[in-house]
Amino acid sequence: MAEDIYDVVVLGGGAGGTPAAIRAAQLGGHVAIVECENFGGQCMNKGCIPFSHMMVASNILRSLTLGKEMGLTFNVISKDYITLIKRQDELIIFMREGVKGTLRKNGVEIFEGRGRIVEKGKLAVNRKIISYKNIILATGAQWMQPEFPGSDLEEVVNSDYLLNTKKIPKKALLFGRSPWLIEIAQFLNRFGSQTILATKDETILSGESKTITSRLRKVLKDEGIGIKTKAEIVSVSKKKDELYIDLSSKDGSETIAADRIITLERGASLKDLGLKKINIEEDSQYLKVNSKMKTGIEGVYAIGDLTGPQSQHYSHLASEEGIIAAENAMGKDAAINPRTFTRILFTQPEVACVGLTPKDAKNGGYDVVVGAAPLSMNPYGMILSENEGIVEVVAEKNYREVLGVHFIGTAASEMAGQAVLAIQMEATLDELAKTFFPHPTLSESLAEAARDALEKPIYLP
Ligand SMILES: Cc1cc2nc3c(=O)[nH]c(=O)nc-3n(C[C@H](O)[C@H](O)[C@H](O)COP(=O)(O)OP(=O)(O)OC[C@H]3O[C@@H](n4cnc5c(N)ncnc54)[C@H](O)[C@@H]3O)c2cc1C
Repeated sequence: MAEDIYDVVVLGGGAGGTPAAIRAAQLGGHVAIVECENFGGQCMNKGCIPFSHMMVASNILRSLTLGKEMGLTFNVISKDYITLIKRQDELIIFMREGVKGTLRKNGVEIFEGRGRIVEKGKLAVNRKIISYKNIILATGAQWMQPEFPGSDLEEVVNSDYLLNTKKIPKKALLFGRSPWLIEIAQFLNRFGSQTILATKDETILSGESKTITSRLRKVLKDEGIGIKTKAEIVSVSKKKDELYIDLSSKDGSETIAADRIITLERGASLKDLGLKKINIEEDSQYLKVNSKMKTGIEGVYAIGDLTGPQSQHYSHLASEEGIIAAENAMGKDAAINPRTFTRILFTQPEVACVGLTPKDAKNGGYDVVVGAAPLSMNPYGMILSENEGIVEVVAEKNYREVLGVHFIGTAASEMAGQAVLAIQMEATLDELAKTFFPHPTLSESLAEAARDALEKPIYLP
């Protein structure tokens, strides 16, 4: 019998691997996918979906304040964490089954087990050897122990803890650079924890536009979340059930009491994949690929969290990279446009940053023009009390091509889609300014920010 050789084998059935397998099958490939834990990966099972679910609950709590201003009163507000987790677990199981069904419907063969490359063109899974012409590595990232004294204590936990516990910590220190820590800090705070958010960087959400980070910081501080920047944990000691954390930061040295330290350190899952058998270094921080998702080894592609630092761990990036890798493995010539990558945060207000910040654009050699439209001057923003919301547009001065758009406000994640489309289509400020958005919507501020950059705002004072 002739050997069954797959055109494409995808290792890892997460946010990147699943669309990669489906796209390769759509292009006529004989495709298999290998998953050792749960289809949907980190995003669906322990990341985007459960934490966005929690953020929706936390936003409802906040909306009650706005409701009160509108004369709506709710006498009893109770927060049942167990019901919240139960609902999201049910949703996740439903979605996970949907992923498997979609893979099958597209003719992708599913292998459930840990995959390991045994030689060029061959992968072992459950003692079976699968032969392939192309492999797409999509094994994501894994937890790493943070580097501070006392980080091995059992009270030092990651986000998985919140998915398994029955009650949230009374006092929590969230320590690290991951943007998801900011979401978790706001959720815990609104659910009744005393929370302190500490980062080693100069600001929270380091690297993003100052206009956005300063407003986010104000919102979090006004809600009562402690914020420490340039922070280091010097030591942690445990007395009874409480941790005493010596923290140095821009504010000086202090001792913070907390019952949990939450960190989110993740690094590429490169180990035990048999990469050495195909001459790929497995000791590096992550796997380097080009814009076509090629590793440099023929027939070997890599996508998602495996291929970048933690600041680039986003589900939609993994998914887009998966589609590009699949198309190239099937003989097409696709490449990613890094300019359309959105960094997102489901806090309230939401944050969404697409393309270049004013600083990055200047550093990249562009002659830059910037416009902004505060949502507090947008009629729908006024209804929603969008006091800190803003849309900022960054463009090149001569051709007026839009280089970046940055949002903070309700539905920023949805508005970001419009900016992605504009940047993908190489839109200019003039085109954005002429786009007439429906009224009353927050999106109207996108056109107004473009008009501001052209020094012709219509509604701004
Ligand atoms: C708390 C938290 C919240 C987040 N929220 C968001 C959000 O709101 N929006 C967003 O865009 N991103 C979010 N992310 C990031 C997002 O989860 C990741 O960027 C995304 O899951 C990466 O996709 P991936 O396919 O590279 O990896 P994954 O989705 O992790 O998939 C990798 C898969 O490979 C499998 N695997 C590993 N090794 C093997 C092997 N040897 N054999 C077989 N299978 C293997 C794993 O079991 C896993 O299922 C969040 C992350 C965290 C930690």
